[in-house]
Amino acid sequence: MLDGSADRSGKRGAGYSFLPLIPALFMGWSLLAAPAAMAAVRVTALRHFSTEGYTRVVLLLDRESLDFRSGRLKNPPRLFVDIPSGRLRPGFQMPAFDKTSIARKLRVGRPRKNLMRLVIELRRGKIRHKIFTLPNPNRIVIDLREIRIAKRRPGPSQAHSVKRSAPGTARSRPGPGGRSPAGNDRIGRAIFGEMRKNSVPEDKKRRSLKMTARFRAGLGRIVLDPGHGGRDPGASGLYGLVEKKVALEISRRTAEVLRDLLPPGNTVLLTRNRDRFMELADRTSFANRHDADVFVSIHLNSSPFRRTRGAETYLLAEASTPRALELAARESGTTVSRLSDLQKILNDLMLRSKVTESHQLANAVQKSSVVRLRRTYPGLKDLGVKRGPFYVLVGAQMPSILIELAFLTNPEEARRLRKKKYRRALSEGIAKGIASFVGIPVRRASGASPITGRAQP
Ligand SMILES: [Zn+2]
Repeated sequence: MLDGSADRSGKRGAGYSFLPLIPALFMGWSLLAAPAAMAAVRVTALRHFSTEGYTRVVLLLDRESLDFRSGRLKNPPRLFVDIPSGRLRPGFQMPAFDKTSIARKLRVGRPRKNLMRLVIELRRGKIRHKIFTLPNPNRIVIDLREIRIAKRRPGPSQAHSVKRSAPGTARSRPGPGGRSPAGNDRIGRAIFGEMRKNSVPEDKKRRSLKMTARFRAGLGRIVLDPGHGGRDPGASGLYGLVEKKVALEISRRTAEVLRDLLPPGNTVLLTRNRDRFMELADRTSFANRHDADVFVSIHLNSSPFRRTRGAETYLLAEASTPRALELAARESGTTVSRLSDLQKILNDLMLRSKVTESHQLANAVQKSSVVRLRRTYPGLKDLGVKRGPFYVLVGAQMPSILIELAFLTNPEEARRLRKKKYRRALSEGIAKGIASFVGIPVRRASGASPITGRAQP
């Protein structure tokens, strides 16, 4: 449904094209169309959503409007949508786009009497658009997509990685747990230097291999995303535990464990390696930019009920329960009602995400975490794999999940979370789940059977 002819339009008013309409909707409405034709169409709300190289703008209308037209104009590059008899709802506030958006500005004009023109100013570059209507509620949806995403180089302060040295290289390994931010920043720089240098032949080879082969060849890439950071502390719990800190610590440990589990050469990247704020859209964009094979966002849960405990894993889809919607709203820094709206405008986008693979990844990580934790804490509650509209997962081009490791508000789990032993168990559980998903057989747990073996000569 790409409105191709309109793309060529350079002159005002020229190059109009009638938009493709949903036939059923059109037929249903055409019977009633004539008498209502001159009545005003009110734009009641305008919503938008952006992720890397993609923006969706949705116009909510008080009734169906099927005779709108659109086109593209240059200098500045822009897209317009003309709605005959269009009106804005009184007191309508024009929303602003955020800096990551490929749309820059929205404005409304009136080139002729009885014609409302919505103009979306676009960023320079090749941007494709697609316009379609949806019923219930009546909407005009404008999808904008950048055709080739420019590879922005990650700055050293943004990117951190832990890469297992190939045999024979002299590079020293970081200290245990990579706990010194300064130390890991240095490692991040060194590795990105290397990744850039090799990226062309490496990328070519990577693309020719299936995922497991890629990891066996040492060309796999995993992105771990410690939730929150900086001015966004996330949930706070008992014993002064703060989600952003615990998530970062466990992510670092998980990176270390993965480094030991995976064959040499594979890369594990962290979206942040210190206490800094990061926009949600920048996190998946980081994973896309690095062409990651797996994206795992690491979080800790909270509840008004102290009894509530357990581990759960989410993939991006319409919320499976009201609690999933509530959690997704909290994790996305928005309200349930606003997220319900977002859920409606994003449904088809969610369907296009890698649902099957993400489900497999979620199952592998959830199972592995529960198995690992129950070895030490038999009563651990398995809350299972669930679905929710988590903003941080929208737009990821690889299997992606969000895990809620434990409840910071549950006395027992909070007490355990303060201990290294529990954090290590959590990290091992996640790392082994990821390793098994990418098809790398996981070694037997360290420290388990050898003691028994030696005890029985
Ligand atoms: Zn969180």
